[in-house]
Amino acid sequence: MQCRRPEVEAKCRRLSCVHPKVCKLMGTDHTPLRDLMRKSRELPGIKKVNVASGIRMDLAADAPEYLDELATHHVGGHLKVAPEHTSAKVLQKMKKPGGDSFERFAARFKEASQRAGKEQYLVPYFIASHPGSGLEEMIELALYLKENGYRPRQVQDFIPAPMDIATCMYYTGLDPETLTPVESAQTASDRGLQRALLQYWEPRNHALVKRALERAGRRDLIGDGRECLIPARAPAMRDPAKRDDDGPRGRGPSRNGEPGYRGPARSRARR
Ligand code: SF4
Repeated sequence: MQCRRPEVEAKCRRLSCVHPKVCKLMGTDHTPLRDLMRKSRELPGIKKVNVASGIRMDLAADAPEYLDELATHHVGGHLKVAPEHTSAKVLQKMKKPGGDSFERFAARFKEASQRAGKEQYLVPYFIASHPGSGLEEMIELALYLKENGYRPRQVQDFIPAPMDIATCMYYTGLDPETLTPVESAQTASDRGLQRALLQYWEPRNHALVKRALERAGRRDLIGDGRECLIPARAPAMRDPAKRDDDGPRGRGPSRNGEPGYRGPARSRARR
């Protein structure tokens, strides 16, 4: 996929062709990719070609023929996707589309899987401590996970890496585009609070999550009510030999034990 006007591309100063929205000159035709997928599975000696991850969800959600091809022939039961966060503020710093693009993609992927007669799941990945993410944003993400009954076993911690705009934000405390301040969790203890919120239900995280909620002024989320994230008292530690595969609505653990996910509850309710 590339700019459809090379003479414009030569002078273009936009940092991204797909953020904050997909440029109207960006060629988003999935046909060459579909042709490649077809050719790959028709090669002599090839039984199966699986796509494990790397889907650009906002573009794929509007390409039903591509999604049909993917769901019918190239998903081995689970497809990893990276919504990364739910906070619009953090997603903007990542130059990622808004959280609703994940919901749209999940709904379309489910429909494509149904058309293919297959039961397939998404494995969404989320990240803690990305620049722009504070406790408030992580609590928003934890509440989203709770609302949708999804308990990820694997989560990511932001690591500053070379040649990355997020690394520039992490070290300078500024957004290089706007020179406005960007907060980042810098200490191990602050990063630990954010990381714990991604797995708020784990008994081993109870003290950290409680501290994070108290620090953020969200004591209303501590207690036994349905809306609370954690009980007031720490629950008993589980037997580590027992696996925690699923949340209430999570389904279909993948081979590495990550629970599968068939789409956010809100989008399921809307359909
Ligand atoms: S932002 Fe638009 S005009 Fe610029 S290179 Fe990308 S597609 Fe072309």
